[in-house]
Amino acid sequence: MISDGSGVLPAAAWVKLAMLSHGVAVAPSFSSWFSSQEGAVRRRNFYNSPVWDGGEAVPQEIRLVNGSGPPVTVAVNVYGDDTWSLEGSERGPAVINTRLGISWDVELIDDLRCLRGSAALARVANLYGGSALSFFSPRACYFFADSTQCRFCSLAGTAAGTAFANRLTAAQVRDAVTTVLQAEPARVNQVMIVGGNERNLDTGFLRHVDLACAAAEAIEAAGMTRTVSVHLVTMPPRTLSLIRELGGVAGMHCGFNLEAWDPLVFARIAPGKSADYGHSAIRRALDYLVGVVGEYRAHSILIAGLEPPASTLAGAAALAEAGVSPIINCFHSDVHSAIGLSVRPRYEELAEVAGGLSRLHAAYPIRPYWKGCGRNALDFEAGNGMFTGDAPALGGTR
Ligand code: SF4
Repeated sequence: MISDGSGVLPAAAWVKLAMLSHGVAVAPSFSSWFSSQEGAVRRRNFYNSPVWDGGEAVPQEIRLVNGSGPPVTVAVNVYGDDTWSLEGSERGPAVINTRLGISWDVELIDDLRCLRGSAALARVANLYGGSALSFFSPRACYFFADSTQCRFCSLAGTAAGTAFANRLTAAQVRDAVTTVLQAEPARVNQVMIVGGNERNLDTGFLRHVDLACAAAEAIEAAGMTRTVSVHLVTMPPRTLSLIRELGGVAGMHCGFNLEAWDPLVFARIAPGKSADYGHSAIRRALDYLVGVVGEYRAHSILIAGLEPPASTLAGAAALAEAGVSPIINCFHSDVHSAIGLSVRPRYEELAEVAGGLSRLHAAYPIRPYWKGCGRNALDFEAGNGMFTGDAPALGGTR
């Protein structure tokens, strides 16, 4: 499975971290092979990489083959750094690090057949990370109106010029979940609802709740509540009592994202959210959310790489202590974001966060938001003990 010039093999989760730090180059040998893999999920026109013009087909994500453990899902973020390179060979695709002498076998992820076969369905839903049926609505966010959007957010550029619906109805979500669970019941383990936000936060929140309820109803009708859960990330409502509307949704996970633990960093990277709602108010909303959906079914993203590792870990610890499952996403430089490639977290920083997160998972019953499909997230790997022990030296010269 793996060749390694040094004889010391890193674990797949650490390779994921290194790939999230550097990104990955897509070699022509891979591209030509990949173009014939018609069933594989292709990167569509969102979550784009800075160094990709949309011309050549690339995967959204790959899975690192992981021996007897669960495969490790990692994003194919193309940053123009070829430390790690996705290459094709007679043995199949592999991620190569020439300097370290590492060649790691990878698997591609098949798209849902029903999504490939129905343009109408593909306008509404997407397969994220290989096992999350995802819905994005609305495809706009009011923070862009006065340029106070989150500095890492790529929504404005990626929403433009796509075939995707701008705003989904509950009926569209219900029908899409029903169709997918009937056609390919073994492929999906979560339904994910995320989107932009509207200026009236109460109205926007209730619209998101409607979509989550519709997904939950379809899952229940399919008899799959034990295997498929509903995951919603949204802005909290102004009127906190509206959060109670989530109380009746079976299997609900919900997140209000803090993005950074340091309020000053939060204000810098999420100026609209900071001015319009505020860090401490989001924390109060999270406390309320825990009371409604239950401990560790409430989530909040902290972005590793946009503040020092100690700050990310202090936030993750405080959230875990409060019954909130932290979501740690590595900062990825999307092409349409304001930050873009101006910031890239080093492997060593991500490894420090991963190690600390692993210890938190051992101490609290934290539930990963993404069940193995978080291509830029560390939670699933931390929850499965893949970051225990010393991090191998996989950093580059950056
Ligand atoms: S709240 Fe921030 S991250 Fe979310 S859609 Fe709006 S600008 Fe983007």
